[in-house]
Amino acid sequence: MQNVKIVNYPHPALRVKAKPVTTIDRDLKLLAGRMLELMYEHKGLGLAGPQVASDLQIIVMNFEGDPDKPEQECFAINPVIIEQKGGLEEDREGCLSFPQLFQKVRRYRTTTVRAYNLDGQPFEMTCSDLAARLWQHEIDHLHGILFIDKMSSLGRIASRAALRQFEEAFRKAQERGELPKDLVAAK
Ligand code: ZN
Repeated sequence: MQNVKIVNYPHPALRVKAKPVTTIDRDLKLLAGRMLELMYEHKGLGLAGPQVASDLQIIVMNFEGDPDKPEQECFAINPVIIEQKGGLEEDREGCLSFPQLFQKVRRYRTTTVRAYNLDGQPFEMTCSDLAARLWQHEIDHLHGILFIDKMSSLGRIASRAALRQFEEAFRKAQERGELPKDLVAAK
């Protein structure tokens, strides 16, 4: 699992629609553990399968991003949003696949999700504010949707230089042989 790493934009894995998990086995639990480790290492609140180039519908989160608060951790398999309300609110958001890029994104204030935990037990959760934002952001990842897709046109323009730098870094990693040469950058 040590070779499992976070992939940055424009890695094509970020645009893959993840598949539902059909069996929760040892490999999946190891993957979840590794994802949590990477999330803490990069000081994030959440990480989704496609961000580690996995095509499985899995999300790991800590609602406070605090490794000393394991009670805030949440593992979600095959999560779906079943209700959104409270209207849309704009707030600053970041993403571990876009280091140092922060922009305002509109999200529903309250969201209810249904998912399975790592024991295969279904659960439902209703969250508001930051936790609701986190769920929406991570579930988007499972559908190949990125926060840059949801920025205002102004936010998009403000992010342009940063996105070019990510694209340049991707190209250089290919030149160095750290990424396969035939990997096609996503937009
Ligand atoms: Zn993200």
